Amino acid sequence: MENMVEKEVAVALESHFAQLVDAYENPNFYQNNTTHQISEPLCQYIKQFEGPREVLHKCCKNLVVSIVEKHKTYVKAQKNCNNILIHMLLYVAARVASCSEMPNTEVVVDLLSAIFDCDKSFRNLLMGAYFEPDVCFLVTHVQSVFSSLEEGLGAYRYFLQHTNKAKKYFVSNGFPRRMVDTNLQEAGIGHPAVFAIANRCLRTFKLLVEHGTNLDDYLESHSASSLLEMIQLFIPENNTPEVKFCREVFTREHPEILAHEEQTLMMLSRKAIRRHLNREFELPSGIDALPIPGILKRYLHLDLD
Ligand SMILES: [Zn+2]
Repeated sequence: MENMVEKEVAVALESHFAQLVDAYENPNFYQNNTTHQISEPLCQYIKQFEGPREVLHKCCKNLVVSIVEKHKTYVKAQKNCNNILIHMLLYVAARVASCSEMPNTEVVVDLLSAIFDCDKSFRNLLMGAYFEPDVCFLVTHVQSVFSSLEEGLGAYRYFLQHTNKAKKYFVSNGFPRRMVDTNLQEAGIGHPAVFAIANRCLRTFKLLVEHGTNLDDYLESHSASSLLEMIQLFIPENNTPEVKFCREVFTREHPEILAHEEQTLMMLSRKAIRRHLNREFELPSGIDALPIPGILKRYLHLDLD
């Protein structure tokens, strides 16, 4: 029975995918369709799928692996990736992986590495995790890969979980960085968390802090107060709950910016534990595995003062 379903899902995914590849024969296809549009039928199928998850995951994994291989073969033969269509398929694969939440860490990391090797940043993949699709293009000239900011945030969280699990570094300008700290521009500028604050992407900022984004380099050259000023300056309604929350999250993660007498042993311990977990790529997942009461877990998750 399971085999029958598996076959059906595989056929359905492959036929959606084959339509995409066929459409590539049409030279206007790329000009007329965004990555989001071309991946949408596949994602709709995945979202509406009600059968066994393992079957869906297995078929999605096969599809993602075949796309990564296709891209790899092309790049190897041509010595570069100037085929924009082949490259766009990687974003389709990224959506298939995140939409289905397939659990294959190794495959996800391979896919992200392929994207990073060509793009030298995650800008094209992830701008849709900072802005709603219509705003995204206006602000960044990058078309969102996703249907909504919500979907983008979910995908970012999914990618971070898997790159953390694999303890993966991406080398950017000679420096190994975690995905959560990989610059959004090739030239080594645009730290994701600083970009998120400067562009008022507060939910994205929170996601990055939860996953252990490291602002130490930035703070060393700019001082913490400049980041706090940025939180306030760039957001005119600067006492909205979101801004207040953003400021709180930032000071909880960086108690060292407070006056000496305001810093408590609790705060400094939290910082030390979070730094330790982060070195092991275990933020936020490692907090829940600690043998401590729930209230302390919430404290470590930066949910409490
Ligand atoms: Zn490529």
